[in-house]
Amino acid sequence: MTWATIVKSPDAAPVAPSLLDYERVRATFAWAQARAELDGLPGGRGLNIAHEAVDRHAAGARRDRVALRWLGKRGEVEDITYGRLSELTARFANVLRGLGVAPGERVYALAGRIPALYVAALGALKARAVFCPLFSAFGPEPIRARLAIGEGRVLVTTEALYRRKVAGLRAALPRLEHVLLVGAGGRPTAVPDTRDWHALMNAAADRFEIEPTDPEDTALLHFTSGTTGTPKGAVHVHEAVVAHHVTGRWALDLHPEDVFWCTADPGWVTGTSYGIVAPLTNGVTSVVDEAEFDAERWYRILQEQRVTVWYTAPTAIRMLMKAGAGLAGKYDLGALRFCASVGEPLNPEAVVWGQAALGRPFHDNWWQTETGGIMIANLAALDIRPGSMGRPLPGVEAAIVRRVADDRVEVVAAPDVQGELALRAGWPSMFRGYWGEPARYRKCFAGDWYLTGDLARRDRDGYFWFVGRADDVIKTSGHLVGPFEVESVLMEHAAVAEAGVIGKPDPVALEVVKAFVALKEGWAPTPELRRELLAFARTRLGAVVAPKEIDFAPGLPRTRSGKIMRRLLKARELGLPEGDVSMLEEPA
Ligand code: ATP
Ligand code: MG
Repeated sequence: MTWATIVKSPDAAPVAPSLLDYERVRATFAWAQARAELDGLPGGRGLNIAHEAVDRHAAGARRDRVALRWLGKRGEVEDITYGRLSELTARFANVLRGLGVAPGERVYALAGRIPALYVAALGALKARAVFCPLFSAFGPEPIRARLAIGEGRVLVTTEALYRRKVAGLRAALPRLEHVLLVGAGGRPTAVPDTRDWHALMNAAADRFEIEPTDPEDTALLHFTSGTTGTPKGAVHVHEAVVAHHVTGRWALDLHPEDVFWCTADPGWVTGTSYGIVAPLTNGVTSVVDEAEFDAERWYRILQEQRVTVWYTAPTAIRMLMKAGAGLAGKYDLGALRFCASVGEPLNPEAVVWGQAALGRPFHDNWWQTETGGIMIANLAALDIRPGSMGRPLPGVEAAIVRRVADDRVEVVAAPDVQGELALRAGWPSMFRGYWGEPARYRKCFAGDWYLTGDLARRDRDGYFWFVGRADDVIKTSGHLVGPFEVESVLMEHAAVAEAGVIGKPDPVALEVVKAFVALKEGWAPTPELRRELLAFARTRLGAVVAPKEIDFAPGLPRTRSGKIMRRLLKARELGLPEGDVSMLEEPA
């Protein structure tokens, strides 16, 4: 089925889209222009993310504007203004200095979405330490591995998480010198070999002058999601803030008066680049919800907080779809102006559902931990072709390439050809390495092209379409089939909640397409339904691309960031070792 283009009329929009004239800006843009929108440290002493995100607003007209509105699990609400955030982060920078933490040393955080996490991130950046967030649902082994790789010297965590997950690791982590515990409800903690966060913070001065910061100084260490294998630690520098800032404005359409909600956890790059940095550099109010997904809670937040810009992920959108448009209809979502999604391909069905159920379509955008910021996006002012990731942002040169040698690629100029998605190196938030793995980093480049490991195609109008991860693409009877296309079609059937598609080795066809399908409530996994789905897919996709086999499953294996782990579906199907499963979400 082809999906109708969602036509935009930017002139009629209540707020003028921030990138109104895409073609013109794209033709003339240079990154230096975006850099000029930022202040830089006073006296020309370089560029520091925390100054751009916090201190420059705290010193100006936005001092009393709410920077972070924290919504606690139990209904608590805490507003932190830019002024207060500047003081809190100054305190933490002073705490680090008091502990003798030198610039470049790694400060980790393992915490749910609580204010201390945000303060630790920005305070560490002020002190020119390298901040590394860990997802709080990790078990002890992924925590140990990541702390060991980055040789973390400081860890900020909660008393509860420490007791459950970290205390037993201390002997294995000799480099981890200081563990700072945030007590529940601000209560003091007294656990051996740790310090109390609140006591240290209260004793520290609330002013801190950021020392000269080279834009190339390392700022963040971010581990990838581990969808395709062992997670890699992507290294990002302070200059990344140039991209965070301008892409927040362009791809998320942030305007100064916005109330923005990024649902991602800072344990993933989205939750840092767009859950901490970009909203603050753009001076908006950013909503932080401590709780996990819950359809009614989420709608209530959108309604009560009058959220204007919302950035979420396909898994969550699919869960909202499962809960039904009727539920959405009970809430007043009138404040919502712009909805965006990232992390996995967004099925066209979901884009259109947003329009029908929320009154706003979802704008899919594409990027990776390695790119540090949004690279390809559906923009507020441009028509949406449902199922497409959109167009490259100004300053981003994206191409479809073909590998001609290990270290050489050729750009495929013709439209509608499937190939590897590559980006011309040189945008500010590009990763500068994989921590401790220089050879792995080098392998990502061919000349000045960064090879993303994703397959895509570009249509004649310049929209990019995701095909699949290079590792997931299925080779069947001489054709390349992207799992996404097959999954999207299956999802168009009324019974299907989600689908994961793999290639299963076959003596004749090399591989055949096999689908795993989770059903919506009220549907039974019967042989008739299986036959119906097989026929449904065949009519839409043709015999070559349609799945030959369908298995019903109660749910699909996902990474903790919510991505379908096709490699695991495949390993299980073939009875092969499961590989690194540290990122696997525990079954509910
Ligand atoms: P690992 O590299 O460890 O296997 P990962 O690639 O899932 O994990 P991330 O950096 O979090 O780690 O995810 C980036 C990847 O997510 C992209 O390379 C792409 O495969 C997928 N992705 C992100 N956004 C989109 C999108 N809008 N459409 C399709 N795929 C997307
Ligand atoms: Mg990846």
